[in-house]
Amino acid sequence: MLARRQLSRPAARVRRSRREPADEGLLWLFDLDNTLHDTSHAIFPKIDAGMTRAVSELLDVDVDAANEYRTRYWKRYGATVIGMVRHHGADPHRFLHRSHDFDVKPLVRAEKGLAGKLKRLPGRKVLLTNAPLHYARAVLRHLGILQQFDALWGIEQMRLHGEFRPKPSAALLRYVLAHEGVSARRAVLVEDTLENLRGARRAGLRTVHVYHPGTPFARAHRHRPGYVDLRVNCVTDLLLRRRPLRG
Ligand SMILES: [Mg+2]
Repeated sequence: MLARRQLSRPAARVRRSRREPADEGLLWLFDLDNTLHDTSHAIFPKIDAGMTRAVSELLDVDVDAANEYRTRYWKRYGATVIGMVRHHGADPHRFLHRSHDFDVKPLVRAEKGLAGKLKRLPGRKVLLTNAPLHYARAVLRHLGILQQFDALWGIEQMRLHGEFRPKPSAALLRYVLAHEGVSARRAVLVEDTLENLRGARRAGLRTVHVYHPGTPFARAHRHRPGYVDLRVNCVTDLLLRRRPLRG
């Protein structure tokens, strides 16, 4: 039963790591889509089609009706799966597998040498994505960076008191930090979605905006918002320009 624990279950551990004291190094919370890889290039259209198919099959409605449900739940809850669970009793794991049922290998596009770049970034790295875990793991594995992360948090892990609490939930961020044993001031969220960065700042984290032109509302902000500490275009930028995040 998913709701037995305060959060559904601990984040998936990639490997056991030596826990650093809270005052040593930073904890990097990395988003996945349009942050570590270019999801807009070919994957988002696949997810869109998969979501519509999954909703259509589950509710036995046509494509237009399925798209209406998707839009409604995405706007209301930040993730279609939440509406499908809450209003239609969907099994979240089955729904997420059906909606992300494709091979990522021919579709993934990302900057080169990501593994080496992440390795050179001091501090622990944890993945924090509102996407499902099996999909996140497949993308990281294909990029050759799965082992760079101490833990993976997907949408399945983001349940608090039985309710989904994806980013930008401050309660989720506080839970993740407590679980990782790090104070908010030693944690950095690296992310393309500004609303999630705004939520992170409210919870006391530092913030890095990875600009991606395909992310909704990204183009509307020509300047760095006050809740963003650093704005970059890629992980290479982060390596070179992370000085404002120290101290
Ligand atoms: Mg993203």
